[in-house]
Amino acid sequence: MIVVLLGAPGAGKGTQAAVLRERLGIPHVATGDLFRAAIRAATPVGLEAKAYMDAGELVPDGVTIRMLEDRLALPDAAAGAILDGFPRTAIQAEALDQFLEARGSRVDAALLIDVPADLLVERLSGRRVCQASGHPYHLELNPPRVTGVCDLDGSALVQRADDAPATVRARLAGTLGDLNDVVAHYRATGALRVVDGRQPIPAVSAGLLAVLDAGLRSMGLR
Ligand code: ADP
Ligand code: ADP
Repeated sequence: MIVVLLGAPGAGKGTQAAVLRERLGIPHVATGDLFRAAIRAATPVGLEAKAYMDAGELVPDGVTIRMLEDRLALPDAAAGAILDGFPRTAIQAEALDQFLEARGSRVDAALLIDVPADLLVERLSGRRVCQASGHPYHLELNPPRVTGVCDLDGSALVQRADDAPATVRARLAGTLGDLNDVVAHYRATGALRVVDGRQPIPAVSAGLLAVLDAGLRSMGLR
């Protein structure tokens, strides 16, 4: 099963992907995490991606699509994956459809976490992520049990460089148009489901699980 999580930066994709991963038992594949790991390992992909990420711009489609396809070809994704942060452009959405079709598969559900732009700056500016795995927290809206420490793995919480206020605005300005194109793509394929992302985290999780379940049942998959 392939589930795509859609939303602007800060909408709550990473937060909700962790919940869906537990429920569905398929891996959480986040292109942002893959790029950050590639940068840490100083691979050619990492070297290419870094300047774009530092500027809050999208990494070019070619390298992004190849990286995602390589990840989906790994054995742990044989039964599917929850995609977070991919596709982010219409070209990536088309490429994903073709890649899956060649394997007799498809995007079963595209779940949009819908959050108005004015809430996104607050969410991104207060975001802290753990050093070990990037688990997301928020200073006020979703604090860890112990200040500065990840609940799940005990590693230190840090601020991502691209969550600094100047970059946050550039990311939002530069990516919302592309998000609209991707949303239109899945509206056309019939896979799109929309959940109100302004609600507290548990209510958004419940909403996502409800639309996912209804969508899969209507396709005869449940
Ligand atoms: P957020 O969680 O704030 O939405 P991500 O961690 O998903 O951010 O992405 C961080 C950065 O990685 C993006 O600003 C972009 O530079 C790059 N990136 C991630 N996914 C993609 C993608 N599908 N296409 C192009 N660039 C991407
Ligand atoms: P994305 O992966 O879409 O960029 P994240 O899951 O990293 O978003 O969430 C962005 C920030 O907003 C984090 O600090 C997170 O703790 C917080 N957050 C996520 N969902 C909610 C919510 N429903 N209400 C309040 N804060 C949220």
